[in-house]
Amino acid sequence: MDTTVFVPIDATATTAGVAAVRARSLAKTYGKGAAQVRALDAVDVDFEAGRFTAIMGPSGSGKSTLMHLLAGLDSATSGQAFIGTTELTGLGDKELTLLRRDRVGFVFQQFNLLPMFTAEQNITLPVELAGGTVDRAWFGTLARTLGIEDRLTHRPSEMSGGQQQRVAIARALIAKPDVVFADEPTGNLDSRAGAQVLSFLRRSVRELGRTIIMVTHDPAAAAYADRVVLLADGRIAGEITDPTPEAVLAGLDALRSLDDTIDGPEVNG
Ligand code: ADP
Repeated sequence: MDTTVFVPIDATATTAGVAAVRARSLAKTYGKGAAQVRALDAVDVDFEAGRFTAIMGPSGSGKSTLMHLLAGLDSATSGQAFIGTTELTGLGDKELTLLRRDRVGFVFQQFNLLPMFTAEQNITLPVELAGGTVDRAWFGTLARTLGIEDRLTHRPSEMSGGQQQRVAIARALIAKPDVVFADEPTGNLDSRAGAQVLSFLRRSVRELGRTIIMVTHDPAAAAYADRVVLLADGRIAGEITDPTPEAVLAGLDALRSLDDTIDGPEVNG
């Protein structure tokens, strides 16, 4: 395995108050000609380090597209995406692969654990495969914080959905990435397990200093975040700081009524 090429770590990205992730005039168009869809339309947005931010908006508003571009999973049509001071939009495939491996963590709706491995192996394997050494003290902190200490020798089939997702969160955090992207992390969980997972995400920000960006369509889930960024028709349509479920619902309702009265892409501000 090639361990000689590293994407430089940006020390400023771990300081609270500094943008860990940024988009500048970020745009994505799918398709050609009459079938063209402008999924993201010149988006400018900052996500602070040491904060838990939710991205919300109606279906088709560009949430997944924005997340994929910010995480280096897809390429932009124009504009720039940054993790720390690294411009993703300027990187080649190999550098992007290393950036995702070394600096980004992912949590998906499907937990994506390897069925033949124990919880502990699922958490540590990515670090070991990348040629790294697991920080055992950090591993212990994560297992304790996530409440999975007594599940570490269990395989995924021997755990509940909520436990599996907490293992997936530990896996995403074990290498202390600059940012963790969570895509509908509670989409497959009942409300109680979902609330636990969201509490753990929030604790990992408040107590462990991590940076999390979560895409969700659930106002109750978004209310766990420090800030909610609202998208409509591929544009930033507003934001809510210190959100409550009621404030998030009201924000989404305002987007819908704008959508009803104004023709699509004019929704902004
Ligand atoms: P959201 O996550 O908010 O539901 P998406 O980012 O998935 O929104 O989609 C934004 C817009 O881009 C939608 O109109 C969607 O149909 C379109 N879109 C997304 N991915 C593709 C694709 N691979 N090909 C064509 N259109 C796409």
